[in-house]
Amino acid sequence: MASTATGPAPDLFDAENQTLLAARAAHSACASAAQDACAQTLGELILAYERLLRETRRLVRRSDRAELEMNQMNTRLQDLAAELEHRANHDPLTGVLNRAAIIERVNRHFVREDLALVVLDIDHFKRINDSFGHPTGDRVILGVVACLKAVVPATAQIGRVGGEEFTVVLPRHGGAESEHVAQELRRAIETHGFDLPDGSGVTASFGVCWAPAGSDFDGAYGLADEALYVAKRGGRNQVRMAATTLPSLEHVV
Ligand code: GH3
Ligand code: MG
Ligand code: MG
Repeated sequence: MASTATGPAPDLFDAENQTLLAARAAHSACASAAQDACAQTLGELILAYERLLRETRRLVRRSDRAELEMNQMNTRLQDLAAELEHRANHDPLTGVLNRAAIIERVNRHFVREDLALVVLDIDHFKRINDSFGHPTGDRVILGVVACLKAVVPATAQIGRVGGEEFTVVLPRHGGAESEHVAQELRRAIETHGFDLPDGSGVTASFGVCWAPAGSDFDGAYGLADEALYVAKRGGRNQVRMAATTLPSLEHVV
């Protein structure tokens, strides 16, 4: 039996053991012939009782083991559910949010607050793949994500919305503030050492839009994407703000 620091642990069957002890004592005290039948019955009763106790102890041990296994399985199940949830929401290459997850989060933010959306696309990325191979391209994508993570504010969320295209969500950021963040992101990528075989650097183009609470992802993304297109046509490696903003709810009749 297991014992604790303060002495032996109480036996679950203390009362039964006491009864058994008393019965054994009575059984030994049966001396006369008249008591033989009584002694025999008592002996059989003791044997049956001992067997019952052994069996019950075995069942208790088995049930303890089953409970332990069930707890372990439950923990494993919770770990698997968390892993599944993570996989469902994150991009496997970079670990940032995937497209569906970023759309869901942006729309959730819009229920109660304004936000700025930064959309960025790596410049001439196809050339990197074509010149140095897909694994080098993947390494560049990871480097770009490292730059984004190093620069964005703590409240921001980063999502991979396409192959070499990312969205940064900046809750409660105004237009000027978000343009400043986008410029910092652009500089971080431009100055990052990507170690490409020909020594060339990597740049990205940015489109930024601000949208009020009540907007939705499609509207805000459309504006930021138009601005990104202007940045690409303007020569790349630059930040462009959306020309218009979505109407605020107060102005919608
Ligand atoms: P632009 O400056 O106009 O954006 O030109 P670009 O070459 O970056 O754009 P384009 O759309 O022509 O090429 C994007 C390439 O990105 C094509 C696609 O094969 C590649 N790509 C998409 N996803 C991945 C990925 O996960 N890993 C790698 N290595 N390449 C990818
Ligand atoms: Mg590109
Ligand atoms: Mg692209």
